[in-house]
Amino acid sequence: MQEVKTYVEIILPIAVKGTFRYEVPTHLIDKVEVGKRVVVPFGSKRSYCGVIFEIHNTSPVGFNVKNVDGILDDYPIIDKIHLEYWFWISSYYLCGLGEVLNAALPSGLKIDYSDRIVINEEHTVDKKILTDNEYLALDALEIHKTLKIEDLAGVIGTSEVPFVVSSLIEKNAICKERLISERYSPKLKKYVELENVQISDVDLNIIIDKLGMAPKQVKALRSYLNLSSFNTASVKEVSIDMLTSDAGVSGATVSELVKKNILRVYNKRIDRIIDYKGEKESLEELSISQGCAYKDIKQAFSKFQTVLLHGVTSSGKTEIYLKLIGDTLNQGKQVLYLVPEIGLTTQLTSRISKCFGGNLGVYHSKFNANEKVEIWNKVRMEEDSHSIVIGARSAMFLPFNNLGLIIIDEEHESSYKQNEPSPRYHGRDASIKLASLLGAKVLLGSATPSIETYYKAKENKYGFVELKTRFGNVELPEIITVDLKREHKRKSMKGHLSLQLYNGIKEALENKEQIMLFQNRRGYSPYLLCSSCGEATRCVNCDVSLTYHKSSNQLKCHYCGYQEVSASTCKSCGVSDLRLEGAGTEQIEEELEILFPGTTVARMDMDTTSKKNAFNKIIDDFENGSVGILVGTQMISKGFDFKNVSLVGVINSDNMLNFPDFRAFERTFQLMSQFSGRAGRRQKRGRVFLQTFNPEHEVIQYIVGHNYIGLYQAEITERNAFKYPPFTRLIRLIVKNKNEITAQRIAKKCGDELRLIFGSRILGPEVPLMSKVRGYYVREILIKLELKSSVIHVKSEILEVVSKLKSQKGVASSRIIIDVDPV
Ligand code: ADP
Ligand code: ZN
Repeated sequence: MQEVKTYVEIILPIAVKGTFRYEVPTHLIDKVEVGKRVVVPFGSKRSYCGVIFEIHNTSPVGFNVKNVDGILDDYPIIDKIHLEYWFWISSYYLCGLGEVLNAALPSGLKIDYSDRIVINEEHTVDKKILTDNEYLALDALEIHKTLKIEDLAGVIGTSEVPFVVSSLIEKNAICKERLISERYSPKLKKYVELENVQISDVDLNIIIDKLGMAPKQVKALRSYLNLSSFNTASVKEVSIDMLTSDAGVSGATVSELVKKNILRVYNKRIDRIIDYKGEKESLEELSISQGCAYKDIKQAFSKFQTVLLHGVTSSGKTEIYLKLIGDTLNQGKQVLYLVPEIGLTTQLTSRISKCFGGNLGVYHSKFNANEKVEIWNKVRMEEDSHSIVIGARSAMFLPFNNLGLIIIDEEHESSYKQNEPSPRYHGRDASIKLASLLGAKVLLGSATPSIETYYKAKENKYGFVELKTRFGNVELPEIITVDLKREHKRKSMKGHLSLQLYNGIKEALENKEQIMLFQNRRGYSPYLLCSSCGEATRCVNCDVSLTYHKSSNQLKCHYCGYQEVSASTCKSCGVSDLRLEGAGTEQIEEELEILFPGTTVARMDMDTTSKKNAFNKIIDDFENGSVGILVGTQMISKGFDFKNVSLVGVINSDNMLNFPDFRAFERTFQLMSQFSGRAGRRQKRGRVFLQTFNPEHEVIQYIVGHNYIGLYQAEITERNAFKYPPFTRLIRLIVKNKNEITAQRIAKKCGDELRLIFGSRILGPEVPLMSKVRGYYVREILIKLELKSSVIHVKSEILEVVSKLKSQKGVASSRIIIDVDPV
């Protein structure tokens, strides 16, 4: 009788469809389990670390299988249900399971050939307990300090590397390093404590006596002792902010105490507070309308898995979320709270940790490998630590074992969609799928829901709850359009500011209020034009004009990073009469400094926030009032809750409206409404100035009237007429090649093949707005599918056409990207 062999299907971290089959040798059969990591040979030289997807006894026919080299884990790192989710993502978004694995697993759990291994100089490993290979590896690392995986393989053999690395990491003897620069820097908060924490009461009194001449310092010290519950069993941490506001003294007073070696300052990282020891804050009492919305949501959840909360800006959606989080925790379940931008997690994190203590984890791409693994493991454990995770879209890959609720704040944000690399998933849509697999509820929140989501709510696919008033019944801001045509005719412009906006800013500054100005372009000028031939200076790699940056006197491409020193003659015709056209944030900032001397102006865009801590510093300066006017790109449009902003202005409202995309109106409305929402969030009604050449434009009118429903009805009619989502599904194919003719040829071939199957559902290939990016020519094909079509079937046909095409001669040099539900 033939013995029954055991096989496993392994997901390997490579962009190939499907899983790979290996045989499990007898000595590993007891250890094999779905969700564990294994090491397998692949190709002639390499060995890979993958995850077991399935175990079975079906012998391969027609091909040989290799053996599994070993199993890395004692326990699975992921459950079957999450693997099922990976599988759904790969079939819905048309990508390989390995690509999903790459997106899902934190890099700390992957062993990859791009890793570098670094010795931990302070390790305390007793070498006697090491295996021979571990010993050899550690020895090599002690000599070289850092080694590439390949180099380590030379020492101990390729297949041994993953085991040795994983074991030495566990023993804290080495760590892995990814060769990426981390731009993210944690937000630190300053705390104080007594220099001598064991000081006796007697000595303290002597110090206080000595300080007698400086009553403010005495006040600060007494206040510290009080806030920290000094000399009790539960000493609390005191931040400088808490201290200055409690004692009513300035930071300088605290500094004096530090200088005198009475207090000591220490930093605490506040965006990843795992364990909040301070006083717990209770939730705010909900207002009557918040209370109604809360009850309605609960009721809607009894009927619907997903509920949309449509609440105007500053209506207090966050407090409702907190209440629901509390309820979910009380049921012993976990909460995932997704936000579109990681910059916004800080304010939120500190609020949540104060309400729910050390239950919180923060997870996004900018955390380092070890921190991510830590959260991964905690979320997987049964205990109640990390019952709440705040994160960007990638947090939906965490292995929640008991998820009760997913909150998706600002659900309309396009940053929930991953564009590069594959899987090109939509964090919102994929989370809804996850919730259905795990039996959790989803709350979508927005002041300006996406048309698709609102439609689903109207069609009774989602529950629907409205919150129409701002918290504290503050009025929505007054929105004033400024007709730029007329202003230019009257010659009343002051630089890029109309007289109205200028006067508004002046008035606000006189009232000691703050101002935010939005301009959707960074740099000084988006165009450097030749007055003679009219040509703009263009990027050598991309089909765009270069932006002039004054501070560096350079022309830069915002797509590929190409830059050159600004020239004084036209490259096309040689004439030396060049002029700048249009304004970016850098120019607006310069104008404001001239127009409002004595007022500090700050600028927030990708240029000013690339350095460590710069982002937080700008926010802090604006929050504490040392900056009067903040100019910025869309970075400043969302989420922030600044108390003292009474006026916001949009320098040019037309840029986005004219964008050739079926979502241009929706996007403009969302961005302008969100940005307007930054004004007057407390007692006083805020004002918004929209400068535009088209004040009568219907979208501008909807914004002025805070008329979301008007916008929705106009959009839904258009989309129905022209067959766009939510009435169809879109799939976009993008063909890229360094040669324009090849790109066109391959795209045409692809379009023709697809047209044979799908007929008029195939549009293109077309030359997109950006016809060349980073040296690659781009062509796009759009597939519009009826909702009733069998998605899985259609998708597998598309995949087949594309893979067939890819295998043909002369196609290999082209990239063909499939983007499902493009945004
Ligand atoms: P949204 O997310 O809907 O734009 P927020 O949740 O930021 O609104 O709330 C707006 C402001 O109102 C915040 O400063 C918040 O602290 C305050 N607020 C909301 N609800 C309450 C409440 N029930 N009690 C006290 N303050 C509240
Ligand atoms: Zn470029």
